[in-house]
Amino acid sequence: MGGLYDCPADLHTRVRGASIKGFLADDEAEALYGYCGRVSKLGPALEVGSYCGKSTIYLGLACQRAGAVLYAVDHHSGSEEHQLGEEYYDADLYDVQRACVDTLPRFRRALSVFKLENAVVPILSSSQLVAKAWATPLSLVFVDGGHSHQQSMHDCTVWAKHVVPGGLLLVHDIFESPEDGGQGPYLGVQAVLATGAFEVVCKVRSMVILRRL
Ligand code: SAH
Ligand code: MG
Repeated sequence: MGGLYDCPADLHTRVRGASIKGFLADDEAEALYGYCGRVSKLGPALEVGSYCGKSTIYLGLACQRAGAVLYAVDHHSGSEEHQLGEEYYDADLYDVQRACVDTLPRFRRALSVFKLENAVVPILSSSQLVAKAWATPLSLVFVDGGHSHQQSMHDCTVWAKHVVPGGLLLVHDIFESPEDGGQGPYLGVQAVLATGAFEVVCKVRSMVILRRL
């Protein structure tokens, strides 16, 4: 495994300048870029949960720099908390005609602004359906999709199986205490660690980074 890629100094400014919506802190975004660059020689990377493309930009640029590919899986209909009337509902992302959340236009714009079409393969589908017949070994998986216990457990345990030895599993929104946030992703990571196939590399804010042994 090589060294961590350094995130370009102006990238956060460019992401903010392009008004890319998302839920990643700067240090978490830098960790995506750095760790993805470190392992991308081992194969393609995959993220579950692209939303408007913020994490996709950091992972995608690291893949592009290394000549690798990022699969970006999202049905683009939003998670439970993004739906009309829920805590993270955003009226800008609501398609009135179809009466549903639709983050795909914003996601496409992010790929276009950051010239990522030659490195990112968007997959407009649910994580469950994509996982059903997935067979490509992955250098890195970033799990940031639905946060229910069932969904997190599925995404962590099923996608972890595709990570190559020396590859990485990154999971966002890890809160050890229920007072700080939902327990789905935390329990998903505990289940992956219980298999004995992964070790903890480090934690960056609410993101945990595991390495396949
Ligand atoms: N990584 C993003 C934030 C992701 S928000 C960022 O950096 O800003 C969570 C995303 O997961 C939403 O866009 C939602 O549509 C998607 N999602 C939720 N459940 C999903 C599922 N079962 N399959 C695919 N995508 C899902
Ligand atoms: Mg998140």
